[in-house]
Amino acid sequence: MHVTKVHIALKRNKRDIFGMPILSFLFKNKYMLFFYRLFTLFLLIYSTLYGFINPTKGNLFTNAVFWSIFWPFFMTVSLPTLGSVFCMVCPHGFLGKYITKLGLKLRPPKWLANPYIGLVSSNILVYWFVLYTFPGFFRNPFNTAIFFLSFTFLSVLFFFVFRGMAYCKYICPIGSVNTAFSRTSFTWLSTYEEECKSCKKPECALACPYELNPSKFDKKNSMTYCTLCMECAKACDAVRFEVRGWGSSLYKEISNPKSIEIAVYILLLGVITFTMRFHHGLSRSGLANYMPWVVVGKHLQSALGIPSWVDITGLIALLMAVSLVLLLFYVSFRLVAKITEKSFKECTLVLGYAFAPLMIVGGLSHTLEFFFTEYYHNIVNGFSQAFGLGIHGVTLAKRGDIWLNLFKIFPFVAGFWSLNILWKRVVMFTKDKRKLVFILSASLPLVYLLLSLLTIIVMVLFPVHHAHKIH
Ligand code: SF4
Ligand code: SF4
Ligand code: SF4
Repeated sequence: MHVTKVHIALKRNKRDIFGMPILSFLFKNKYMLFFYRLFTLFLLIYSTLYGFINPTKGNLFTNAVFWSIFWPFFMTVSLPTLGSVFCMVCPHGFLGKYITKLGLKLRPPKWLANPYIGLVSSNILVYWFVLYTFPGFFRNPFNTAIFFLSFTFLSVLFFFVFRGMAYCKYICPIGSVNTAFSRTSFTWLSTYEEECKSCKKPECALACPYELNPSKFDKKNSMTYCTLCMECAKACDAVRFEVRGWGSSLYKEISNPKSIEIAVYILLLGVITFTMRFHHGLSRSGLANYMPWVVVGKHLQSALGIPSWVDITGLIALLMAVSLVLLLFYVSFRLVAKITEKSFKECTLVLGYAFAPLMIVGGLSHTLEFFFTEYYHNIVNGFSQAFGLGIHGVTLAKRGDIWLNLFKIFPFVAGFWSLNILWKRVVMFTKDKRKLVFILSASLPLVYLLLSLLTIIVMVLFPVHHAHKIH
């Protein structure tokens, strides 16, 4: 589709990043965007090849790129703060834009056009299930290279066959969560409504490779699958990229709420946060051998003669954590539905957005702590090895350093923020029995806060002195 550039002389508001010279240059300038994308593409290709050339554990570079930069910083840190900026520089999305133009442009079949595929298969099963059950798998650079090469092949195939960047929407492990995650971010892409009212031909929408219309984002209070590729901003000056309050969309009505977003909050709360508290928190305390997932896991491991490279304890912790979260959510929302005389689905689609900060903001604690204990020296040593820099990075902190406890504040910020959003959404949702509805629907954030507190108390009172093997 040929897109004509629309120039409009407008006064940008103070929060519009496109009106700030340096930031506008960094986020909108086509040469800068091209440079970032080329750089991440280079990193993807070089670190994947490096994984095949040097598949031993002596290869520090491949795992550093994928597990100390791409995964933790782009997914855990940038998505909930800056929004989908990883997509903006993503090498797969970069290639996809060109491949799609040359490809078959077929409409994806209905069964495939389903974002749950990306969430459950690419994200939960292919990554988290493997991480907990086969903890050594991703430590091997060869496996890491195979893992990312598979996603690269899959993306090329999808971009070539289907239109509308279907891989990003339905398969990519990050694409499956970015709409939900970026709701807590402080950036927002939309357009100047005054200019759009009289617009006869929405060049912004015609330019969008994802077939989105940014002039509708404000009205819907949703940026749907927007990956901040900035093609629309190149096409029309009336597109704006604003700094807004953190999670501002969570306080407003959402005209077209998506069950996938709520599923992301709830499932990943179980899969990531609760499982981490169980398996990487309480299982590392002196009370490890009393934890039900450790007791059951050890029993099954020896009774079934399962080899030690399979961690049944991790798998049981995952299953127990997910079951607990789903049960809590289901029972409390059934009760809310009964009290309010509304449907379970309606209650979920309005109140469920309050759970956004729990896993997303709470998860920052883990990543920031790991930056000081692992990621920093992994990155320095990995790049030094791959580019022959001769630098030796040392760890910035050791596990157990008291000051690292500073990061333990994030889960509490997340829990109380979630309760605050929940109250606002309850007020929006019903006029009757608001306090009761709030207390019942708050069961997840309350249990989350209790579990965070309990983990700290147990770790302090019963530090590790024995037994359970730590992965
Ligand atoms: S959705 Fe996935 S493949 Fe698409 S741009 Fe974002 S990270 Fe890249
Ligand atoms: S609808 Fe799109 S193309 Fe038209 S003025 Fe608004 S931003 Fe520009
Ligand atoms: S709305 Fe704009 S920034 Fe978002 S995906 Fe479409 S073209 Fe890219």
